[in-house]
Amino acid sequence: MATLPAIIDIEKNMIKKAGDIIRPMNLGNKCLIVTGVNTKKIAGQKLYNELKKEYETDIIIGVSNEKKELESFAKNVEPYNFLVGVGGGKIMDITKYSAHLTGKPWISFPTVLSHDGIVSSRASLSDNGTKTSINAKEPRAILADYDILKEAPIRWMISGAADLISNYSAVEDWRLASSAEQEKYSELCAGLSLTAANACVADMKDIIRKNYNGVRTLLEALVLSGFAMNLFGSSRPASGSEHNFAHALEMMNAPGLHGEQCGIGTIISSYLQKKNWVKIKEHLKNFGAPTKASDIKITDEQAIEALVQAPKIRTRYTILDRYDIDRKMAKQILETVGVI
Ligand SMILES: [Zn+2]
Repeated sequence: MATLPAIIDIEKNMIKKAGDIIRPMNLGNKCLIVTGVNTKKIAGQKLYNELKKEYETDIIIGVSNEKKELESFAKNVEPYNFLVGVGGGKIMDITKYSAHLTGKPWISFPTVLSHDGIVSSRASLSDNGTKTSINAKEPRAILADYDILKEAPIRWMISGAADLISNYSAVEDWRLASSAEQEKYSELCAGLSLTAANACVADMKDIIRKNYNGVRTLLEALVLSGFAMNLFGSSRPASGSEHNFAHALEMMNAPGLHGEQCGIGTIISSYLQKKNWVKIKEHLKNFGAPTKASDIKITDEQAIEALVQAPKIRTRYTILDRYDIDRKMAKQILETVGVI
């Protein structure tokens, strides 16, 4: 069953207000804050100081997102009534998976808006060193502090925007899979995913300025994109061949943020889908997102190899299944769209 978070709230000085918002949710008296080393300094410690005024609160640094280690980490979580994840993607993955294993409610308190995993129910974990996406648990509430989010480097927000722009090619891949009778398609979930991307593009100027409206749109668009995935029950509405390309890069430890890699992947996927890849490139450029491999120090060789490997990343049907991309063809494609 997919549920929307009961509360999605972004305000100035949310750290001070969080206790008042959480109290009526009646989650219980024992709270565990899961945070990282840096995010503890940015927000975790301050939130701890506030929440301990009314809850028996502890704070723990989440380190590993290795599935097996999290299974033993979950034992630490057992005595608490609810969890609060304070940080970026990895901390949220640790928190949501621990919440899932123990059946505890959790609250997302993001410190950056770099991709839709911040707010979705899916956990991106490492399983014996291999990256895997697991259905975990959606947050009961998303509480965001505008003062903290606007201080995060703009590069992370732009990466979040590029992850949303990738919904265009993801939905197109989904349509192709459906018409090839490979998969069930949901007009509603596809629509939610595209609405999130459209809202992000429409508020581009505000997002770059990091004003309240821009940060709020980015947060809500990421929530909507995450909800489209939760509702459908897989990452399909927001993850197609462009994500295969990004995952292939990630597996070879190529540089760049997830959303940045997905953005570049979207240019390639849209070209292969015979959609308006020039427009996609323009959107990314307007955000100041990378459109060339070298913008994020990915070598031509890595980009070529990632495109060749992309169809083999997972079994999901995408546009890549309609081509047989070897190294020579990959180079040609990447040159045509100006990625290398
Ligand atoms: Zn993504």
